[in-house]
Order: sequence, then C-alpha cells, then structure tokens
Amino acid sequence: MSTEIALELTPYQAADEQQIKKAIAQKLNVKVEKVGNYRIIRKSIDARKAKIKVNLGVKVFDIGEVLDDDVPSFNYLDVRNSKPVVIVGAGPAGLFAALRLIELGYKPIVIERGKQVSDRKRDIALLSREHNLNPDSNYAFGEGGAGTFSDGKLYTRSKKRGDFKRVLYALYNHGADENILYEAHPHIGTNKLPGVITKIRETIIEHGGEFYFNSRVESIQIANEIATGVKLADGQIVAGAAVILATGHSARDIYKSLINQKIEIEAKPFAMGVRVEHPQELIDSVQYHGAKRDAFLPAAAYNLVHQVEGRGVYSFCMCPGGFIVPAATSKGEVVVNGMSPSMRNSRFANSGIVVEIRLEDLSSYSKYGVLAGIEFQSELELLAGKHGTYGVKAPAQRLADFVNGKSSSSLPICSYHPGVNPSAMHEWLPDLIAKRLQKGFIEFGKKMRGFLTNEALILGVESRTSSPVRIPRNPETLQHIRIKGLFPSGEGAGYAGGIVSSAVDGERCADGVANFLNT
Ligand SMILES: Cc1cc2nc3c(=O)[nH]c(=O)nc-3n(C[C@H](O)[C@H](O)[C@H](O)COP(=O)(O)OP(=O)(O)OC[C@H]3O[C@@H](n4cnc5c(N)ncnc54)[C@H](O)[C@@H]3O)c2cc1C
Repeated sequence: MSTEIALELTPYQAADEQQIKKAIAQKLNVKVEKVGNYRIIRKSIDARKAKIKVNLGVKVFDIGEVLDDDVPSFNYLDVRNSKPVVIVGAGPAGLFAALRLIELGYKPIVIERGKQVSDRKRDIALLSREHNLNPDSNYAFGEGGAGTFSDGKLYTRSKKRGDFKRVLYALYNHGADENILYEAHPHIGTNKLPGVITKIRETIIEHGGEFYFNSRVESIQIANEIATGVKLADGQIVAGAAVILATGHSARDIYKSLINQKIEIEAKPFAMGVRVEHPQELIDSVQYHGAKRDAFLPAAAYNLVHQVEGRGVYSFCMCPGGFIVPAATSKGEVVVNGMSPSMRNSRFANSGIVVEIRLEDLSSYSKYGVLAGIEFQSELELLAGKHGTYGVKAPAQRLADFVNGKSSSSLPICSYHPGVNPSAMHEWLPDLIAKRLQKGFIEFGKKMRGFLTNEALILGVESRTSSPVRIPRNPETLQHIRIKGLFPSGEGAGYAGGIVSSAVDGERCADGVANFLNT
C-alpha cells in the first residue's frame, strides 16, 4: 500500500535523501527505519517569503514493496510492412506523431528539411562564430525542430488538449532526467536535448519508421480533395495514406505554398517584442529577497504580465542561467530567442518580453491578406538586421535607456555570441510595440524592485513566439477543414505553443490519422 503526503522542507533538506526520510517518518509518526521506498511526485519552490521553502509531494510505500507507478505504457509495434503515413517536420509535433503512429500500427515516414541533430550542431556553431546562416539548418530547422537547442522547458500542464504526462514519460524513457516527471517547472537543458532527440529517432527507425533528412517539402499531393503524399523540392514524390503537416511557425514558405495550392489558412493573433537580459545574480537577489543563492537553490526565474492599452505585455520563455541565441531562418534577419543548459549556470538571466498583436493592429498590412502578420514579423526582423549591422549581430539598448527614450552610449557584456550593436530601439520599433513595452517595463519594475535597471539589456527582435497563421482543421477529426487526410499539427498549424503542447498535438493528430484510416 502507498500513502501520499506533503512535506514542507528547507532547500537543504529537500536535496538530501536522509533528511527527506526523516521528514517522512516525522509526518507518519513512525521510526525512520520503518520508512520504505518513496517516490517524489511533485516539487516546487515557494520563495514568496524570506524563508524559502520547498514543497514536496511524496508517495511512500510499505517496506519491501516495489515502487508502483501510474506510468503510461508504450507498446511500439513493428511497422516495417504497415501502411505508410507521411509526417512533414521532425520537431516535437512530428516526432511524437511518429512515436504514436508506431503504437497504433502505422509506418511513419518523417520528412525533414534540415539535418540530423549532430550535423545541425556544426551549423549552429558556425552561425555564432562566422555569422554564416544555413537557411535549412539553424536554431529553428533540423532534427528536433525549434526545441532542440532550447532551454527545454516543459511547462504545459493543460489536460484539455491531451495527455502531457505521456510526453514527459516518453522524454524520460529516451534519456531525460527523472526530475522532469515531478518538478513544477521541469526543463531538460540544451546540452541534453540532442541526446534525447537522437534516441527518439533510433526508436522510430528500430520499429520500422523512416526518415528523410535534407528534404524540403514543397507541396502536398492531392487527389479528389484527399492528401496522398508530398512533393519534395527535388521533385521526388513521397506517398502516404495520410499527411501530418508539422512544419513549425518559422516555415513561411509552406504557408505560401498552401496558398498557391488554394488550401485554406487563416490569420491569428500573435506576439512580438524584445529579449531582456539581466545578470543572474540580480534576479536571484530580487527573487530570493536579497539572499545570495546557495547550492541548494536553482537560478531564480520570473513570470511577469501586465495589460497596457488592452494588450497583454508579458515575459515569455524565461531562461535562468541561460544564453540569448540567434534564431533567424533567412539571411539579413535578426531574431533572438533564449536557451539554457541543464545546470542553468551561466551568469545571465534572459526572457522574451512581448506584446500581444491582434489582427486589427495590422490594418496597414491588409494588402497581404492572411499573411499580414508574417509580413509584419519579417519586416521587423530585417529592420533588426539593419540596426544590428547586416549579419547576425543584434541591435541592443540598456533597459532603463529604452524606457526613458535615450540612446545607450555603451553596452554591458551580454551572452549573445554573435555580438550586439548599440541601437536606439525606441526610435525604430513600431509604437504598438515600443510604447507598450516601455509602459510594461515600468510596471515590471514596480512588481520586481531592481528589474528596471541600466544593468539590463534588451535585444531585438523576439518575433517568433507564436504563429501569426492557423491552418484550420475540423475540431473532431483534426483533418484540414476541406482536404481529407491532411492533418495540420503543432505550433505552425496554430494549435500549440511550446515543446510539450506541440508533442501532445502530434500524438492527437496520429490518433486522428488512425480514426481516418479505420473508417
Ligand atoms: C531557441 C528556442 C528556444 C525555445 N525554448 C523553448 C522552451 O524552453 N520550452 C518550450 O516549450 N518551447 C521552447 N521553444 C519553442 C518550441 O521549440 C516550439 O514551440 C516547438 O518546437 C514547436 O514544435 P513543432 O513540432 O510544432 O514545430 P518545430 O519545432 O518548429 O518543428 C518543425 C520542423 O519542421 C521542419 N520543416 C519546416 N518546413 C519544412 C518543409 N517544407 N519540409 C520539411 N521539413 C520542414 C523544420 O525544419 C522543423 O524541424 C523554443 C524555441 C526556440 C527557437
């Protein structure tokens, strides 16, 4: 029999197995020797007061009892000779769709424009070192998708759209640390993600799935309004009984191709802004009430949100102990994003700070139709490229200077390897972003004393937080509203945001494919 209990410990106690056993014994009113195995099922830090606490949810088992588990089961079948299903994109949505198809008895054929993760690493290194951007192999494109060289935060807890627990367990089974199963804010770390992605590929191939790398899909093959496969840039046709389209939101060419094929897509609200970077010590000191962080506390994070003129201004993808990275996909653009290693041990804390953008905000872009948001994003990314100096250097400004409308004559050291260029960003960012960011930062400075400082730097532009386009699908069948057998999936289709929700959506689309092929 097992008992679930809640413990409130100091960070030191929570890091020590003996201390945890002692606390369990106390709580259950038994001797320590009588405490059997235990499993942590929840862990969160409460830093609201000066005395920081760690809240642990613990499942305690009787002595000799094995750790029972409400672990989801994965039964991967041999699909070598099964019906093929084409998946476009090897990001979280595509890879988790492939794993699920194998459980359901279908053979996934995953087509990816970029390279395998080990080769992709080299292109990413070249990007920072030599400012040499490969448009098909970068921080957004390649095996593992946009999530591979990221923080690997796994924060989705919404059960509305599927079972996030299956995704966490599948990641754990493929090499992620056990703590992702119980931490309130789990993350894998950029140093560990490539290994996990490689193991997922190995599972897919071992069970009969196939991969095409360096293969860009140019269009969907359609017969009698049913998707029958895809055409690659080299003219090759890859046939499948259904197509899962999981190309992420940076693949602008695929949206244009869908429009050319008269496949309906629609505009949706999104968000854009800048990335802010502080010394991690400063964020630790604000969040931990002036205390210096010791070995038992993680690099502190924050989560900020404020409404300005009816639009949300909020922190996004906060990376404690991380780095700012160049996430553009075309030459001349500057797009910034953030990542961190598993130890979160860099000297810097960065976060996107973005402003909600609604369709009515882009009336001057209406001539671009459903692509208005993409055109707006793209113009700003090129402008950032110009102000950062052409290449991948990013335009940057001290935070308080930006808020006060002043140019920064010098810039503090920052984590962005390609380098930064001082730029009066308040002058060239559109008012609908700049003015709202300025007001938002003032409010954030009130919520977190010390946040609004010239020790912090902003870099532009953080433009790829969410998709400005949705590919409409039937909410029941998950197929495109008109083309049967076409399953738009993940972030690029507008149904997910982040690694876990994209993976969950990939699984759901695989279930949708099985229903479609069974009827
Ligand atoms: C630097 C960075 C850090 C991030 N950090 C986090 C984080 O910590 N936590 C989090 O939850 N989210 C994070 N994100 C966001 C997260 O990565 C995405 O939400 C997620 O990867 C979306 O999954 P997806 O499968 O829908 O699309 P993607 O991951 O974008 O994958 C799409 C794949 O399709 C491929 N593709 C595109 N077009 C074609 C084509 N025509 N033919 C063939 N293949 C094609 C691409 O190469 C890509 O591999 C981060 C993103 C970046 C860039």
